Amino acid sequence: MIGWTVFSDLHGTLLDRETQDSGPALPALKALRRSGTPLVLVSSKSLPDMLAVRRRLGHRGAFIFENGGGVALRAGSPAGRPAGFKAEGRLWIRMFGPSRENLLGAIESLRRRTGARIAEVGRMPLKELAARTGFSLERAERCRQRRCSAPFFLDSPRDLPAVRRTAGEMGFKVAHGGRFYHLLGSADKGTAAKAVLGLLGGARSAALGDAQTDIPLLRAVDRPYLVQQAPGVWEPIRVKGLRRVPAPGPQGFRLAVEDLLEGSDSYR
Ligand SMILES: [Mg+2]
Repeated sequence: MIGWTVFSDLHGTLLDRETQDSGPALPALKALRRSGTPLVLVSSKSLPDMLAVRRRLGHRGAFIFENGGGVALRAGSPAGRPAGFKAEGRLWIRMFGPSRENLLGAIESLRRRTGARIAEVGRMPLKELAARTGFSLERAERCRQRRCSAPFFLDSPRDLPAVRRTAGEMGFKVAHGGRFYHLLGSADKGTAAKAVLGLLGGARSAALGDAQTDIPLLRAVDRPYLVQQAPGVWEPIRVKGLRRVPAPGPQGFRLAVEDLLEGSDSYR
């Protein structure tokens, strides 16, 4: 039997959108481990945020952070460190996204050219970020540590079309996750997933997501699953072969993984 490699978004998919709880997904995480199926976590979160989530989940595999701007592998594979990856503690990391300097320069240009009020998360005072997100100060500090993306708040959503268009003219993309807008380079969750698949080789691939930012990831794999954002509500997205799972967040994660491992493919 050919194995699967499974990619999963975190916020709103493996983790509950409101509580960040992964409880309902735990039996599925166990089943993945038991079957030897690699799980690659994929998120817009910063590297320190990803490390905190991985510790909580007991996850030890590869992960993709900052919306595909960076890929991290556990160091020490017998095959050696792949080209382009740098050793950092117990990880091998490769950056695909633009530098922070480039991104902050682009944010400045966006403010000037569109007149939009843009508050960039990485340079926001800690207390303000905590107040706007409901994060603890500790979590807000982890969230601010960006390497290759610039998450931001937009005071007026009416400015979004102009911000998006102008960012495009400058060679950047604007993605919308669960909480922030993100200014990104050309790398996205899909390009990073393809890079990981190139390293792992062989297996068929599946991915789980819940939102617009997951579209490139869902398009990059053989078996895309979309979980609900709330009971009965899926993000209206179009992806070839998309399986719509009839439950939100970590409950949906569990159904999708069971569907995959049992070979039932019942959400076509
Ligand atoms: Mg999500």
